[in-house]
Amino acid sequence: MMKAQTIEEKQYLVRFNADTKSHLHVLDPNICLTKCPDKICTIFCPASVYKWEEVRMHVGYEGCHECGSCRIGCPYENIQWEYPRGGYGIVFRLG
Ligand code: SF4
Ligand code: SF4
Repeated sequence: MMKAQTIEEKQYLVRFNADTKSHLHVLDPNICLTKCPDKICTIFCPASVYKWEEVRMHVGYEGCHECGSCRIGCPYENIQWEYPRGGYGIVFRLG
């Protein structure tokens, strides 16, 4: 029987071809600052792309797993999400 993989082992199977242009945009930083005390994007994103830095949201788009959660997870629909441009973004390795 195959041994269950740890998250770290699974993450080893992905690599990234990062674009120089972000495919993720926080539309209104002021909403994050004033209306969203829980900053739940910093919790639901499996790749820890969103990091709150005192007064602003840092978006580490290069590590995005393209799961799409932030399209529906932000209570203010404040994240514009697109697939990375062709050839960029996550690459899955098998085995
Ligand atoms: S969940 Fe949305 S509104 Fe809240 S901090 Fe994240 S991007 Fe901003
Ligand atoms: S698409 Fe998924 S991995 Fe990428 S930033 Fe949104 S929640 Fe994080």
